[in-house]
Amino acid sequence: MSTKVAVVTGANKGIGLAIVKGLCKAGYSGDVLLTARSDALGKEAVELVKAEGFKNVVFHRLDICDQSSSLELGKFLKEKYGGLDVLINNAGIAYKVDATEPFGEQAEVTMRTNFWGTLWVCRALFPLLRANARVVNVSSFVSKRSLEKCSPELKANLRRTDLSEEELCAMMREFVTAAQSGVHEAQGWPNTAYGTSKIGVTVLSRIQARVLNETRPGDGILLNACCPGWVRTDMAGPNATKSPEEGAETPVYLALLPDGTKEPHGQLVWDKAMQEW
Ligand code: NDP
Repeated sequence: MSTKVAVVTGANKGIGLAIVKGLCKAGYSGDVLLTARSDALGKEAVELVKAEGFKNVVFHRLDICDQSSSLELGKFLKEKYGGLDVLINNAGIAYKVDATEPFGEQAEVTMRTNFWGTLWVCRALFPLLRANARVVNVSSFVSKRSLEKCSPELKANLRRTDLSEEELCAMMREFVTAAQSGVHEAQGWPNTAYGTSKIGVTVLSRIQARVLNETRPGDGILLNACCPGWVRTDMAGPNATKSPEEGAETPVYLALLPDGTKEPHGQLVWDKAMQEW
């Protein structure tokens, strides 16, 4: 039987690194691929995890903004493992509140990483998902708060259960174009690049789960979006309420849902509980 494998993106620090440790501590019965866009930072993080006694951690480079990087990882997984059992899309960015870059630039850069980067990783790696695979897209409670701030028309569209991936991509492009012209609020979008990119991640997860139901019925694959909570990392700062280990709890729980589990699937989950979208 081939070795099981879990991939965590953006795992050189913060919640991603805590997820890698969390999987190891839970006794994950395969290899855990700690991926990072920087070779040096990624390898350093692997050494840290190994020093805690976990030997099944392997580094692989992955820049989620570079489509060829995802394809290379896919090739490696196929050759070395013949498939993929757990994918945790954790990598993400957020501008600080006092950032001085123009809003249109923030919107484009944030959307490229958080939404398009996540989508590109999924497109490259989903063909490798084995039966009973688990996919966790780290979104945020901010996605829900931002949805509430959308115009009634946008909100209704973003809640549609028949929305296609192409339609969602078009909406995310429209937000960035509107942000670059300063008309995003007039078009009904909230005034947040991060929040809108995370709306994209949550809605993408709903769509991906539905497509898996249609294309892989009976394979037992579960895919969810989640919020780790407000976590003390470089992104959220020292005043956040949770430690990285606590932030990793829900993503690790979703990644390790036992075979035969039927739900959650296609949900936004925080504190291990399904949230209404
Ligand atoms: P950090 O800023 O501490 O870590 C982000 C990680 O993502 C880093 O490893 C970073 O790598 C990586 N990353 C960024 N861009 C890329 C890229 N293009 N390719 C590969 N890796 C990349 O943030 P957190 O740990 O706090 O955040 C992790 C996830 O949790 C994010 O998706 C975030 O939006 C989400 N989240 C966080 C919350 C919080 O309170 N902290 C709340 C809700 C959601 P590098 O070191 O090279 O920059």
